[in-house]
Amino acid sequence: MHGTPHIVQVAVPTPLHRCFDYLSAGQHPALQPGVRVRVPFGRRREVVGVVVGATAQSTLAHERLKRISQVLDSEPVLSDAMLALLSWAADYYHHPIGEVLHTALPALLRRGRAAAVAGPAVWRLTAAGRAVKKEALTRAPLQRRLLEALAAAPDGMTAVALATVSHRWSSAIKVLQAKGWVSVQRQAPPPVSGQSLDQAPALNPAQQKAAAAITAGFGAYQCCLLHGVTGSGKTEVYLHAIEQAVAAGRQALVLVPEIGLTPQLVQRFKRRIRAPIAVLHSGLSDQERLDAWLRARAGTAAVVLGTRSAVFTPLKHPGLIVVDEEHDTSYKQQDGFRYSARDVAVMRASREGIPVVLGSATPSLESLNNARQGAYRLLELPERTGGAGMPSVAVLDMRRLAPVDGLSHPLRMAIAERLDKGEQSLLFLNRRGFAPVWMCHKCGWVAPCRRCDAKLTFHHRRRKLLCHHCGAESKLLERCPACGDGDLHPLGEGTERVEAALARLFPRARVVRIDRDSTRRKGALDEKLKRVYGGEADILVGTQMLSKGHDFPNVTLVGVVNADHGLYSVDFRSGERLFQQLVQVSGRAGRGDKPGRVLLQTYHPDNPVFAALLHQDYREFADFALEERRQTHYPPFSHLAMLRAESPQPGNALKFLHRARDLGGKQADAGSVEIMEPVPSPMERRAGRYRAQLLVQSRQRGVLQRFLSGWMALLTESKEGKKVRWSLDVDPIDMY
Ligand code: ADP
Ligand code: ZN
Ligand code: ZN
Repeated sequence: MHGTPHIVQVAVPTPLHRCFDYLSAGQHPALQPGVRVRVPFGRRREVVGVVVGATAQSTLAHERLKRISQVLDSEPVLSDAMLALLSWAADYYHHPIGEVLHTALPALLRRGRAAAVAGPAVWRLTAAGRAVKKEALTRAPLQRRLLEALAAAPDGMTAVALATVSHRWSSAIKVLQAKGWVSVQRQAPPPVSGQSLDQAPALNPAQQKAAAAITAGFGAYQCCLLHGVTGSGKTEVYLHAIEQAVAAGRQALVLVPEIGLTPQLVQRFKRRIRAPIAVLHSGLSDQERLDAWLRARAGTAAVVLGTRSAVFTPLKHPGLIVVDEEHDTSYKQQDGFRYSARDVAVMRASREGIPVVLGSATPSLESLNNARQGAYRLLELPERTGGAGMPSVAVLDMRRLAPVDGLSHPLRMAIAERLDKGEQSLLFLNRRGFAPVWMCHKCGWVAPCRRCDAKLTFHHRRRKLLCHHCGAESKLLERCPACGDGDLHPLGEGTERVEAALARLFPRARVVRIDRDSTRRKGALDEKLKRVYGGEADILVGTQMLSKGHDFPNVTLVGVVNADHGLYSVDFRSGERLFQQLVQVSGRAGRGDKPGRVLLQTYHPDNPVFAALLHQDYREFADFALEERRQTHYPPFSHLAMLRAESPQPGNALKFLHRARDLGGKQADAGSVEIMEPVPSPMERRAGRYRAQLLVQSRQRGVLQRFLSGWMALLTESKEGKKVRWSLDVDPIDMY
C-alpha cells in the first residue's frame, strides 16, 4: 500500500451536489472515511473537507487530480454510522453532502482545528495501531512495550501513566504517532456535579405505564409518541427512562426547543442525574462546544442535552433519544440545510437500533397520524399530576369590550383579583416593542422598513423604530413625511405598552416583562425567572418565550392579549400552530394546587379554533384538523416540497422558478408530481432581497423523492440558478 497513489473522495462545503476526487500519497494508511483533510479547491483557496470514500478510478485524468494538502485527523471525527446518517440526510433533504457534513461538525473542527479538548493529553491506539503484529517491532522493544500497554488501556493513557512504562516514553511515542498507530487527544476531565441530587417523585400509574413501555423497548428501535397534557409529568417520564439508560451504561440524547429559555430545565436534569451531562446551547464558546461534542463522542458525557443541531452529536454508546415538545417549529432549520431535527432524530434512532421518545402536549398532526397508522407507539398522560385540574378557558369578544391599551375590562378585573389573593398572572402577547405601527393620524401614512415589505415597530424605551424582520433601525420621526404636518402616533400593542399600562393600572404590582428585548443582557432571563419563581413578581408580560416549558406553580391566570395572531395566515399549518401555541400558553395556568383560569381576547370569537380550545381537547382538534388535511390533500395525506429563491434584483427569483418549473415538467416523473405556479413569497421583499416560492406536491413519497433528485441536478447546472440564492424545503416525513 505504501507509495501507491490513492484516490479518495472528499466532501467539501460547496453548493454542488457531489464529492471531489483527490490524490493521497499513500503514506496515510489511516485515511479512512470520516477523517478531515485540507484540500485545494477551485482557484481561490484551501478548504477543510471530510473523506467519504476511496476509489480506484476517477472520472478525471490522473494528472489533473489535485493532492490533499494536509491530513487533519489520525482517527475519523465522524463514525461510519454518523456518516451514513448524514448522507441519508443529504439525500433526503436534497442538500449538498459537503454542506451537510459541515453542519454536523463543531465550528472549530470545520475550521481545521485539532479534535482535542482543552485538558491533559491522552494517547490511544488507532485502528491501524491495533492491527499491528507484535513481530513487526522485535527491533524496537520500547515501542513494542508502549503498544502493548496502550492495547491494554482502551480509554487511553496520560503522560503520567506512560512514564510508568519507561522514562524514555516520549520519543518512542512520537515515532508511533508518525506511523499513524497512536493518536493523541486532549481530554477534559468529566465535570462533576457538586449539587446534591433531588429525590425523584414516585411515578403515578399513567407515568409508570409510559416509562415501562419506553424502557421495555431498550436495545431496539421504537418510536413512542408521549402525548401528555401540560403539567402531566412528561419530563419525569423522560428522566426515569434516561436514568435507566445511563444505569445500563448507555448515553441519552435529549433535544429541547430552546435551552436559553429554560435554564430551570437544565438545572432539573443536573439535580437528578448522577452522571456527567453535556449541555449544548448557543451561549457556549467554540472551544466549550467542541469539548462537549468530544465528550459525547468519547462516551464520557452520559447525557447530551441540546437544541436542534445537537441531533448530530456523536455518541459512543447510544441508548435513548428524547425530543421534548416535538411539535415545536424551532426543530426545523429555516435556511440553508433545511432539516427537521425531530425527523432526523427518529431516523437516527431507527438506524442505531434504539428507542426514541417524542413528547408533547400538542403533538404535530404528522406525528399523531403516524401514531394512528401504527408506526409510532402512542403513550398518553391524560391528567395533570398532583390533582391539579386543567384550567378553565373563556373567550372574550373584543368587539364589545372597549380595551385600554389592549386590556379588556374583564381581563383587568381578573388581574386585580389575583393581586388581592397574592397569586400571579401571566399576559401573553406575541409582539415585542411598544406598538407594531407608527402612524400619521391625519393622512394614514405608516412608517415602512426601507428593506422589507413590512412596517416598523415603535420601541418606546429606545426611542426608535425597528424592523423585526431585518433588524433595521430608524430615527423616530415626529412629523409625517407624507403630508408634512400630521402628528405621528403608535397604533396597536406590544409587550412594552402592556407593561406600561399595567404599571399605570396597578401601581403597586411588581411587573416583569420577558421578551427578547428585556433579556438581551447575559443572565437577564435567568434573573427575571428567578424573581418569578421566588414570588417576587405579581404580573408577567411576555412573548412566546413564556409559553414554552416553564412550570410556574403560582400562576393562576393566563391572559392572551391578542389570540388572533396567525388566525388568517396563508400557511396551511397556521391553524395547527395557533392552536398549539394557545394550548401551551394556557398550560402555564394553575399548575400548582390552585385552579387556573385562561382568558382569550379575540375579535373573531366564532372561529372554530376557539370552540375546540374551550373543550381543552387536543384530540378533538386533531381529528378535525386531520380530516381537513385529508380533504384538501395536504400533508400528511400528500407530500410537499417548496423551492425557494431570492435575489437583490426584482424579478430574478421568479424568473428562476419559472425556469425551474419548465425543467421539472420535462422530467420522467413529472406526470405524478404536481408543479404549481411560482409565486412571490408572502412578504416578498425582506432585507433587500426579493423572494419567491414554488410548491411541488405528490401523492407518493418515493415518486416525489425521485423527482426532486433529478430536478436538483438540473437546477444546479442551470445558468439561472447561479444568479439567485435558492434552497429546497422538504416537508416532514412519514418514517416508516
Ligand atoms: P410536563 O413535562 O408534562 O409539563 P413535568 O414533568 O414538568 O410535566 O411535571 C409538572 C410538575 O409536576 C413538576 O413540578 C413535577 O416535579 C411534578 N411531578 C411530575 N410527576 C410527578 C409525580 N409522579 N409526583 C409528584 N409530582 C410530580
Ligand atoms: Zn400624514
Ligand atoms: Zn426590514
